[in-house]
Amino acid sequence: MSDKPEKFIDENGIRLDGRRVDEIRPMTVEMGVLTRADGSCYLEWGNNKVLAAVYGPRELHPRRLQRPGEALVRYRYNMAAFSVEDRIRPGPSRRSTEISKVSGEAFEPVVMKQFYPSAVIDVFAEVLQADAGTRTAAINAATLALVDAGIPMKGLVAACAVGKVDGQLVLDLNKPEDNYGDADLPIAMTEDGDITLLQMDGNLTVEEVNKGIEMVREGCEQIFAIQKAALLERFGTAEEEEVLED
Ligand code: UDP
Repeated sequence: MSDKPEKFIDENGIRLDGRRVDEIRPMTVEMGVLTRADGSCYLEWGNNKVLAAVYGPRELHPRRLQRPGEALVRYRYNMAAFSVEDRIRPGPSRRSTEISKVSGEAFEPVVMKQFYPSAVIDVFAEVLQADAGTRTAAINAATLALVDAGIPMKGLVAACAVGKVDGQLVLDLNKPEDNYGDADLPIAMTEDGDITLLQMDGNLTVEEVNKGIEMVREGCEQIFAIQKAALLERFGTAEEEEVLED
């Protein structure tokens, strides 16, 4: 028997988890949680729990993989066996391989790889608890782990999904909306608003995609603010914090 809800949005425009259609789930981040990684970040977003760790830049072996003029950025997205309702078989899957590839590419325009020729920068994103939106949660955590590792970057990357339920676009899909909704459109972007990841599952019209992208832009603005607050907490001075509070 399907546990699909009859309605996802009530007559007041409120979703099953109490959010408005353009509202993201609460997000908390903590940087520098792993002492053995060069950079790390733990992120909770709704019921998602994700840990990102960065190692490098360090020499890449085997040497035939080295890129003479720049570093190689490797991104590995992994779901812990216990992160979902039905246990996930450990090891790479088609899904995780695809997510790793596109998520790594989401950082292409921002990571200044030219400073580290022949080196590798490894990004590990471990999903500890999954509740829809884990690839976007992982990207949001990985950005901060990269900064924490001291990797030079032109800016941050934020990611959020938009989808469609009950004929309406909704930002940052929760699990029932992801499972039973009509579309899922995860997007990542730079602070300049350049889209670095866009995937789509389901059916949306061109107008809906354009409106969805605008909703994601608003969501990413909020995520950039959360990321910057975390950076200030980790690296900022007391004076800077006072300025922020004023
Ligand atoms: N999920 C699951 N088992 C899987 C893959 C996904 O239970 O093998 C759940 C998990 O909660 C995930 C959600 O389905 O967050 C949506 O998965 P999707 O592939 O859309 O990726 P995500 O939204 O997490 O980036």
